[in-house]
Amino acid sequence: MTIPCEIRSWLSGFSHLFFSLKPLQCAVRTRHMKTYYTILDCPEDASLAELKRAYFAQIRRVHPDKIDDVEQLDESLADNLVTAVSKAWNLLKDPESRKKYDCWLREQRLKESRAVIGEEVKLCELDIDEPCRCGGYFEVSEAELDQIVDSALFDCAHCSLCLKIYA
Ligand SMILES: [Zn+2]
Repeated sequence: MTIPCEIRSWLSGFSHLFFSLKPLQCAVRTRHMKTYYTILDCPEDASLAELKRAYFAQIRRVHPDKIDDVEQLDESLADNLVTAVSKAWNLLKDPESRKKYDCWLREQRLKESRAVIGEEVKLCELDIDEPCRCGGYFEVSEAELDQIVDSALFDCAHCSLCLKIYA
């Protein structure tokens, strides 16, 4: 048995999301931001029932037990997918945390459209007080770091430059 074609292509889209080590390119800036809704493959105005359906559908899709040809899949990739899907569901099923997340997404999109990016850094290389070239520091909260699916923008506390952090 092999992994059906559609799952294979879905997974390869996902692996890009988590394991992209490509150099940071301008093109990255213009593509659509990936979100927890993207992970559940579900519109942002979905009802709770729709989110739940999407969650179970995605879990079935990515769960190693459900994929016959699991040896062909990178095991850590499969684990990451399950973790990401579960995390998306846990965040979005709670109306309060979903509201906060939606708000954060709106802010991020606004920044994305007008921000001047001063620095770019990968999450794993992030300093807790990431310095800005103006001599100030970027304001990065741990709670926000947790919401990054592929990248996010953070303001400098002292000037108009932004820091772009890649997951
Ligand atoms: Zn600054």
